[in-house]
Amino acid sequence: MQLLDGKLTSEQIKAEIAEQVNIIKASGGKVPHLAAILVGNDGASETYVNNKVLDCRQVGFESTLIRLDADVSEAELLSRIDALNKDKDIDGFIVQVPLPKHIDETRVTLAIDPMKDVDGFSPASVGRMTLGMPTFISATPHGIMELLARYKIETAGKHCVVVGRSSIVGTPMSILMSRNSNPGNATVTLVHSRTPDMAAICRSADILIVAIGKPNFINESMVKDGAVVVDVGITRVEDSTRPSGFRLVGDVDFDAVKGKCSFITPVPGGVGPMTRAALLMNTLKAQSMQLQK
Ligand code: NAP
Repeated sequence: MQLLDGKLTSEQIKAEIAEQVNIIKASGGKVPHLAAILVGNDGASETYVNNKVLDCRQVGFESTLIRLDADVSEAELLSRIDALNKDKDIDGFIVQVPLPKHIDETRVTLAIDPMKDVDGFSPASVGRMTLGMPTFISATPHGIMELLARYKIETAGKHCVVVGRSSIVGTPMSILMSRNSNPGNATVTLVHSRTPDMAAICRSADILIVAIGKPNFINESMVKDGAVVVDVGITRVEDSTRPSGFRLVGDVDFDAVKGKCSFITPVPGGVGPMTRAALLMNTLKAQSMQLQK
């Protein structure tokens, strides 16, 4: 078994991006600038956004964090988005989800200029990805594809099973893996909570990608010998032995499964850091797209 080490790979990607920023600076160009809107003070969202700001700093990007109260009106949020769409200094921006219940997430994603949609959540970005057109691919699927590419995982002609069909992970993953590209060209099965005999389908996977949010759900009886396993799940599980009071647990029972895999992502240190690196890759791309406008 070999680890698909997202932490190490993301550090390599960040070093490559920092190098690009140095080249931009040396030629007097504009440094990429990412903005993030954070509504309310959900603990996990705070951590995610703070990490994104830290990542920007590490590679030399500029970043702007806009904090709005949890009771901000949808109209006010949309007007902030409109201002970011028009702000020539901002290359790309994200609106951290989940949003409070009184705000319509679809209306929010529709309001973001697709040229600045570095999260790749807007219908325009998803549509372009589905058609194989140039676009921003949302950070988690993008990060996973990059990890598979850098480890030279053979995907063509393989059976890839994606567990979970969310619009930000499972569904785009299934589309990307079935596209005529490398990585890609896999035969894909997408399974979800209504799929009968899921264990048998998982056992037939050469590449198993799991994104359901159920700690340790995938056990050794669901994994084929030699499979490549990508664990997207991150659930905070109470752990009084940790200073934080919790630990992060994936959807795959790593210890039970690792002996059967050819490659496997750890949690933490697998898909999470690759997601963060992918947002930086998208922001660098956004900056070059703004220049071409
Ligand atoms: P989500 O929107 O809650 O979707 C979960 C999907 O899993 C749904 O399609 C659901 O099926 C399916 N599912 C749930 N229980 C199942 C079961 N027992 N058998 C088969 N399918 C089942 O979740 P998400 O946003 O994709 O996130 C999934 C996990 O990935 C979470 O732990 C999340 O924290 C993590 N995540 C990690 C990253 C990262 O950077 N590492 C990024 C995003 C998400 P139905 O559609 O039928 O309900």
